[in-house]
Amino acid sequence: MYANVLVELKSKNITGTYTYKIIEPCFVGCRVLVEFGHQKLEGFVLKITNEAIDYEVKDIIKVIDEKPVLNEELLALGKYISTKTLCSLISAYECMLPTALKAKNGTNINKKEVKYLELNIPFEQALQNCKNNSQVNIINLIEKCKRLEKKEAIKISSSSTNTLLKNNLIKEIALESYRYTKDVKEISKKLPLTVEQQNAYKEIEKSLNINNTILLHGITGSGKTEVYMQIIDKVISNNKEAIMLVPEISLTPQFVNKFISRFGNKVAILHSGLSNGEKYDEWRKIERKEVSIVIGTRSAIFAPFTNIGIIIIDEEHSDTYKQDNVPRYNAKDIADFRCKYYNCPLVLGSATPDLIDLAKARKGIYKLIEMKNRVGSATLPDCFIVDMKEEMKKRNPVISELLQEKIQDRLDKNEQIILLLNRRGFSTFISCSECGYVFKCPHCDITLTYHKSSNMLRCHYCNYAIYKKDKCPNCNNSDLTFLGLGTEKLEREIAKKFPDAAIVRMDTDTTSRKGMHEKIIEDFQSHRYDILLGTQMISKGLDFPLVTLVGVINADTTLNIPDFKANQRTFELLYQTSGRAGRSDKKGEVILQTFNPDNYTLKCVVENNFEKFYQYEMDIRRKLKYPPYYYLVNLKVASKFYENASKEAINVANYLRNNLDSSTIVLGPSTAAVFKTNNIYRFQIIIKYRKDNNLMRSLLELQNLFKINSKVNLEIDINPSRI
Ligand code: ADP
Ligand code: ZN
Repeated sequence: MYANVLVELKSKNITGTYTYKIIEPCFVGCRVLVEFGHQKLEGFVLKITNEAIDYEVKDIIKVIDEKPVLNEELLALGKYISTKTLCSLISAYECMLPTALKAKNGTNINKKEVKYLELNIPFEQALQNCKNNSQVNIINLIEKCKRLEKKEAIKISSSSTNTLLKNNLIKEIALESYRYTKDVKEISKKLPLTVEQQNAYKEIEKSLNINNTILLHGITGSGKTEVYMQIIDKVISNNKEAIMLVPEISLTPQFVNKFISRFGNKVAILHSGLSNGEKYDEWRKIERKEVSIVIGTRSAIFAPFTNIGIIIIDEEHSDTYKQDNVPRYNAKDIADFRCKYYNCPLVLGSATPDLIDLAKARKGIYKLIEMKNRVGSATLPDCFIVDMKEEMKKRNPVISELLQEKIQDRLDKNEQIILLLNRRGFSTFISCSECGYVFKCPHCDITLTYHKSSNMLRCHYCNYAIYKKDKCPNCNNSDLTFLGLGTEKLEREIAKKFPDAAIVRMDTDTTSRKGMHEKIIEDFQSHRYDILLGTQMISKGLDFPLVTLVGVINADTTLNIPDFKANQRTFELLYQTSGRAGRSDKKGEVILQTFNPDNYTLKCVVENNFEKFYQYEMDIRRKLKYPPYYYLVNLKVASKFYENASKEAINVANYLRNNLDSSTIVLGPSTAAVFKTNNIYRFQIIIKYRKDNNLMRSLLELQNLFKINSKVNLEIDINPSRI
């Protein structure tokens, strides 16, 4: 018997299958240790054959797994990822497994074992052979629980335990135990569904044994989570399994707790905050079918279930579902593959669906379910825009008069306040501090990026460039600034203005320690603080009944990020954030501070009008040839050597122009948004296409060409989530 083994030689950029002789039991999908040249490598067995081989082959040194770590479905899925994202097959397989199981030498995770005692002979007989009372107690206890943790017996008497063992009345066994335990703090029962929820539930239920993609478009607070939980309950009562993806678990502790209190130990949790050991344990629970629900972030989509009945992706518009490094897969595509394989539905849920998915749903490719009302008496908050240009004149650069009044009002009423300061983004765009004017590319409608070295403003899509101006073209003011205000400064400002308020700040600095995020949320929830201020972290899936005011300090920041999705992200962020206000019977209010009060996206947020935003943004996307009207590919040419990067980028662009269909648009090369980091220069080329039969072949050829180029690196991102 021979095995075809997939191995990777990183140093030489070689990936391929090689034949080895099987000398001990071994299955397709197992990892094995083999000799390759002078090295020992781990690889995956892809095929086992009986065919006679007329050349000399080496033996497999060792079979690592008793049972395959990749089953037939996951093996096929790896091939799909490799063709779809142009990555090597082995990197596709590796991304599907927890670190502990990757085919790499030296990753060794200890199993955590716990010692148990069991009876070795029938109970009555064991009792008769006891020499004293504590021995009798131990035997009784073991009989009662069938299997007793050894440390419990030792608590009764260590010498008796040892005597019982020595006399073979009982035996010791070691069982693997799991590191990550979740306390079930409370049990939650099913809620009676509202009419809208019932309708959503029934629509999904109808599809339970059909491979449908369903877009559940429900406003914030419409009760999507309860629908998910009840449909999952239905799925597991049919003895099938469910995968539930969330954008970032540490951002949604409340969400996870809801599932744990409903489903208890039927749930495994997979996310980046777990240690490798914890991840491995959770993975084993899934593999051994000890759980039937997985909640997790992107990579949880690879949970090794074998009887999936539903996959649900919550906040489906989130960019976190797309992996930024190799393999550049999108969890939505993986979900689609797996749902097809298991003939089950894929549910995408969001209050602000991705335009691509909503467009598909409207065309009838996906099934569309809408939930337009909040549960109970909760209503949507009232939303106001404050023009910060006016406030600047009044010398209120950070907190407007209106916001200040409203904060005081809530403090007086003993209600809570959330302040959002979205610091993320580039500080490299320039804006007029008088009128809020921002320099944009006339061809691509994205913000121009300032390059200090050349003193130029550049479009990083099409390379359009102008010299930095000293005056605002709109109002002639000469005070052009880089916008920038951090959460820390804001905290100081607020503390000064409201010395009696209890303030807590949540951003990457205050939440870097494990568990801090959950703690801040819990403390705020129990009203230990009046004001929560933070970055976009606070906009996601949180539910605070006492919050009646949300203030957005600078609503423009995300608008000015140079990316075709900037409007969409701004709408999502602000709409989701305002969804945090007034989630109980108390009416909520939202205040958006901006230098662009006439901005269309902001107006749509104020009107709480997703539909209006959708129509407007789709129009821009159509005119400027962005998704969903065109597909995108982003190629980055990177090198330590400026000349090489620049020259090869031109070659790549030329190659593409010569090989792709004439209907396809090739933009660039231009300097990438992050042009130089760690002394690596990056140029980028953007492809916009609708249908191109030459695309994948050409990209693959390019990739192979660059594999042997040691000076320049080519990164290809198909359907990028940002450029
Ligand atoms: P969404 O995820 O759509 O934003 P949530 O699932 O967070 O909305 O639900 C909003 C609130 O309504 C939560 O506090 C939830 O417990 C409550 N809720 C949901 N469904 C019901 C129901 N059928 N009856 C009573 N309360 C509900
Ligand atoms: Zn441009």
